[in-house]
Amino acid sequence: MNMNKIKDAESLHYMPVFSRDSLVLERGEGNCLFDINGNKYVDFVAGIATNILGYNHPEYTDAVCAQVKKLMHVSNHYYTEIQSQYITRLCEASGFPRVFLCNSGAEANECAIKLARCYFKNHGADKTILYAEGSFHGRTLATLTVTGNTAQHERYSPLPQGFKSFKYNDFSDFKRNLTDDVGAVMLETIQGEGGVRPFSNDFLVNAYALCKSKGILFIVDEVQTGMGRTGTLFSFEHFGIKPDVITMAKGIAGGIPMGACLASEEVGTAFSLGDHGSTFGGNALACAAADKVLEILQNGLLERAAQIGEYFGNKLAHFSKYNFIKDIRGMGLIRGIELDTKVPAAAFEGKLREKGYLVNVTRGNTLRFIPPLTITKEEIDGLTCALDSICANTNA
Ligand SMILES: *Cc1c(COP(=O)(O)O)cnc(C)c1O
Repeated sequence: MNMNKIKDAESLHYMPVFSRDSLVLERGEGNCLFDINGNKYVDFVAGIATNILGYNHPEYTDAVCAQVKKLMHVSNHYYTEIQSQYITRLCEASGFPRVFLCNSGAEANECAIKLARCYFKNHGADKTILYAEGSFHGRTLATLTVTGNTAQHERYSPLPQGFKSFKYNDFSDFKRNLTDDVGAVMLETIQGEGGVRPFSNDFLVNAYALCKSKGILFIVDEVQTGMGRTGTLFSFEHFGIKPDVITMAKGIAGGIPMGACLASEEVGTAFSLGDHGSTFGGNALACAAADKVLEILQNGLLERAAQIGEYFGNKLAHFSKYNFIKDIRGMGLIRGIELDTKVPAAAFEGKLREKGYLVNVTRGNTLRFIPPLTITKEEIDGLTCALDSICANTNA
């Protein structure tokens, strides 16, 4: 099938929501992807921070294939050994005793929102959920409401009630908005889709302490920043805080759709029988994949990812010498370079692709780097070398 036929099928049949690059990807190996013409790309997108073991990872692929042959899916009306094994591993590793398994980040956040509401109702109140401007929490109606994109809010109004926002990283605005009607706060420690924008250590520490003192639930969306992305299993660990609820998806099962909402015992038992559910959530295939991913992280990949993430950060720091580079942000293996608006990041993305590197552009003219956690120093050297030559030839 050639490129034009593939593009035609998409434009005729797919709902017109995606702007796609002219690239047809066929297979992956290690940290590289190959297109239908056999061109090779080192992948700093990783299916948006999802393929954390890269492609065709031998142990992972074996575990998934074995589970496909054994059992892929049964109803959550029954038990499976693999789900039991996985939730035990996940709860022990995370320190959260309660989990609900679902299929995506939006669903994990939807679960967190419903859980918070059940928790409030059990305490006899309707409460507001406070979220950050510039956030991204998903595309269902409720998660879209807590996503700081006002254009989308208008498009899908009327929206569910009971949510309000505060200014990103602005503690006095946060405090002003933390009125008595607020029952929970929901945020990402680093706004991934929002341009790799981290909250400051001070903001997170103070916001958390204030919530704790008022009995307000602290919900951290770890969909993009979890699973070792920032150098620790979860990003909240960097700040010495312990949220009541966290959500996960993206890298959790190495590319098989899965999400999870984790909670403290008190909050995680707010649901009663029938309050929530999912047909596919936590099925045997997803659990086998996720269990192997977590096992591999625990057996050395997490430490390795932390080291390589620091190496990457040091390499990127050199780019501050270019005056059109406005900011260099991130932690571990989630990094962003914000460019001056005079130099469109999309042009950099295209030039890097020509040199065999896939990166993507996120909000605010920011190049985002979210490679597999298995990325090597040599691959990072290759990317930074290619980027350096593009920067050196940029007039701005
Ligand atoms: C990607 C993302 C989501 C949404 O995940 P989906 O699986 O696309 O529903 C939610 N929160 C954050 C922080 C994300 O990066």
